[in-house]
Amino acid sequence: MTNRRRFLVTSLVGTVALGVSKAQAAGPMLSETEPQAQALGYVADTRRVDQKKYPKHVISQRCDNCALYQGKAGDSAAACPLFAGKSVAGAGWCTAYAKRA
Ligand code: SF4
Repeated sequence: MTNRRRFLVTSLVGTVALGVSKAQAAGPMLSETEPQAQALGYVADTRRVDQKKYPKHVISQRCDNCALYQGKAGDSAAACPLFAGKSVAGAGWCTAYAKRA
């Protein structure tokens, strides 16, 4: 393997590894206006959920007590697998909410 080729391969592996570690970390905050957020009725504050539109929502449902939330209860923001590369607010909510066991 030439030095140049070895350099390129090493760089590529490093770039892929960096991409994977970034994907696992919490990313920038999810905006309520993003299409995927709107599709799931996401709001950053569960108190602002439209009860007429989502009558099954109750105020105690929050991202930080949802089974999909990647943070701990009380964390202000963390990743959610439904919104890859983004963080959702601990006080947030969406229609995929599932109570943490
Ligand atoms: Fe929040 Fe759960 Fe919806 Fe993810 S699935 S945005 S953690 S309510």
